[in-house]
Amino acid sequence: MAELATHTVPAATLERFVADIFAAAGCARKEADRISYHLMGANLTGHDSHGIIRTPRYIQWLQEGKVLAGQSLTIVTESPTHAVVDGNFGFGQTIGPLAVDLGIAKAKATGMSAIALRCSGHIGRIGDWAERAAAQGLVSIHFVNVAEGELVAPYGGVDRRFSTNPVCIGVPPSADAPMLLLDMATSLVAEGKVLVASNGGKKLPEGALIRPDGVRTTDPETLYGPLGPLVPRDPGNGEGALRAFGEHKGSGLAFMCEILAGVLTGGATSGPIPSGKRGRISNGMFSIYLDPAHFGATDFAAKAMDYAAYVKASRPEIPGQEVLVPGETEARTRAERLANGVPLQVNTWEALLDVGRKLGVALPNA
Ligand code: NAD
Repeated sequence: MAELATHTVPAATLERFVADIFAAAGCARKEADRISYHLMGANLTGHDSHGIIRTPRYIQWLQEGKVLAGQSLTIVTESPTHAVVDGNFGFGQTIGPLAVDLGIAKAKATGMSAIALRCSGHIGRIGDWAERAAAQGLVSIHFVNVAEGELVAPYGGVDRRFSTNPVCIGVPPSADAPMLLLDMATSLVAEGKVLVASNGGKKLPEGALIRPDGVRTTDPETLYGPLGPLVPRDPGNGEGALRAFGEHKGSGLAFMCEILAGVLTGGATSGPIPSGKRGRISNGMFSIYLDPAHFGATDFAAKAMDYAAYVKASRPEIPGQEVLVPGETEARTRAERLANGVPLQVNTWEALLDVGRKLGVALPNA
């Protein structure tokens, strides 16, 4: 599929329009603003797959009762150092901050904490939550799965068994540097990147998908079935699977995300799907929060940055290219997009306008 032209929209315009869409769909103003803020955070950091492209699908889920507005966390069990919490299928942009803030409070009081979150609506870009903890001086580690969201074939298999299961580790920044942030799906690409590619965006890397007959491909229709410009991208319509990154190692990490985020939280693994058909998906997230001071680390953030500088000083494999550390691309993209606007594939922009029109939202003059 050829890459289509993009449309660049100022971040503030886009954030307001998306918030108005969620408000028109029935979310309270504060929640609508919060959802839009976090979706925009994904676009600003370059993770368009988890940004406003999700709006039509979120609205559809809201209208179908698969995600619920106005929810809060239920604490299932807790101690000073841990909690098991249920997100009651509320928007992940509402449930996520509540779960993370609980982990932060416990880690600040005791030095470390673990929070097992289940049944949250889609919590989007996981780096968001590591950034929230890092802003409070905490290291955080997150393992995530998607209950009833199987999409990824295990190493050596062709059938969907895992979801895209992100792993994220955040390290608080020293004064003048961006934070160190590893935030990655365990599939070769996140599903949202197939969504972006299906809208004419960046092409998928070789072998990102596998057909039921075992042939590796980059064709988004493997995941979504036959497509047209405004055909909703529903992975329930495709018969193929994403592939895990890093052969058996990435597949093993994805497997353990299912165990930690799906089983240990008391939520659910990404499959088997009881009804046999993808219905309501939810995120599970097992998070660990660590206060560096508790481990006796002095000048932790500064020393971590010194090490990052040492890594970056490696001679590049390709002369003239730069060695990057985790989190650098996000920080740079955020600065660039805040200054110059957010590029959207034309189909993404049209789909957003379409949802806005249907909900009677005033369209922006972008
Ligand atoms: P990615 O491949 O773009 O980036 C992964 C990591 O690699 C980032 O930490 C980035 O800083 C780092 N990186 C990128 N380029 C680099 C380079 N040249 N050198 C060194 N490091 C580099 O990310 P992805 O795997 O496509 O994940 C996309 C997003 O999708 C993430 O934000 C993830 O949390 C999110 N996600 C969410 C869910 C969910 O269910 N909520 C599921 C899957 C993925």
